Amino acid sequence: MTTVDLPLLPLGRGTDLSAERGVECPGDLPAASDPDLVARAAAAKAKLGERVFVLGHHYQRDEVIQFADVTGDSFKLAREAAARPDAEFIVFCGVHFMAESADILTAPSQKVVLPDLAAGCSMADMARLAQVEDAWDALTDAGIADQVVPITYMNSSADIKAFCGRHDGAVCTSSNAQVALEWAFAQKGEDAKVLFLPDQHLGRNTAVLELGLELADCVVWNPLKPNGGLTAEQLRDAKMILWKGHCSVHGRFSAEVVDQLRATIPGVNILVHPECAHEVVLRADLVGSTEFIINTIEAAEPGTSWAIGTELNLVKRLAKDHPDKQIMFLDKTVCYCSTMNRIDLPHLVWALESLVDGTVVNQIQVDAETEHWAKVALQRMLDLPGKTARD
Ligand code: SF4
Repeated sequence: MTTVDLPLLPLGRGTDLSAERGVECPGDLPAASDPDLVARAAAAKAKLGERVFVLGHHYQRDEVIQFADVTGDSFKLAREAAARPDAEFIVFCGVHFMAESADILTAPSQKVVLPDLAAGCSMADMARLAQVEDAWDALTDAGIADQVVPITYMNSSADIKAFCGRHDGAVCTSSNAQVALEWAFAQKGEDAKVLFLPDQHLGRNTAVLELGLELADCVVWNPLKPNGGLTAEQLRDAKMILWKGHCSVHGRFSAEVVDQLRATIPGVNILVHPECAHEVVLRADLVGSTEFIINTIEAAEPGTSWAIGTELNLVKRLAKDHPDKQIMFLDKTVCYCSTMNRIDLPHLVWALESLVDGTVVNQIQVDAETEHWAKVALQRMLDLPGKTARD
């Protein structure tokens, strides 16, 4: 068994280009104070014309979102990229795993660019391939690997998706996690188990609230402890083996703040993402993906109050776009997704102007073997019955 000791690198340092974790972005960036940045981005984009397609994740800053040809969650954006085979360059204003998914789903001739290589995802970083392979070895030693179907959330690196593809598993999003788990349990009969990567909260919330499992059916695999911190008996008794990962943004919301808001704002609706902790989700009125959150606010009656537990850029944009509703952030302190926010106007200008000059910077490329197996896992998700796949 490989010993894995992988503390997160400080963002913006290090040279591990194949990792989700922060890496240095080597660009010769324009100054953030340059008053012409908006005009420069617009001019470069106009020069590139149909050759470039800019994707903007819902959690991006407004200064970047204004240049997006389409906005959406990670899976919608990857599919939008795949639907533009004539675009030579896909500039992905999101994080590293999203650009990988776009590279997997687009044609080999298309080049996917991530304007800042330091835009990783702390959740995706929490499940590294060597760690997951160690866990699988432990499941094999416990005599249960044949009963386990690995399911990974879209928010994971390409090699984790490929691992699931190789081991008869699949990818899921926050809106089809229930269907994916039902599919997984049906694959292996009565003794089936799921290894859910990398977000323990989405796995637990879906298993308990959507599939009706007990909390006691879930165990948490800690990759930093020998044998995940679990005995072989605990593994054999579990139905859900949850990877000990979480989103550093959604993991911040607390049950205490929900209770405080309910006490101070009569009639407030609590609307949260399923990456939030179980005790927060239990106290919420509505739970769903970013697209669900957006659609819910759009359909809400004027005068209603909403406290939203998701990334702050999106909550601020919803508040600005819906002044007839009272919309607030479900936390006492400001918390943007720090890695998403690394994609700023100077990086976007640098990426676009470099393309105009004939240089492709920060291209994200997934190797052919990883791409093949990741596609297998993604296709199993697309073949799931029912709900539309969304993040
Ligand atoms: S919001 Fe959370 S899951 Fe999304 S990119 Fe940021 S850290 Fe990752």
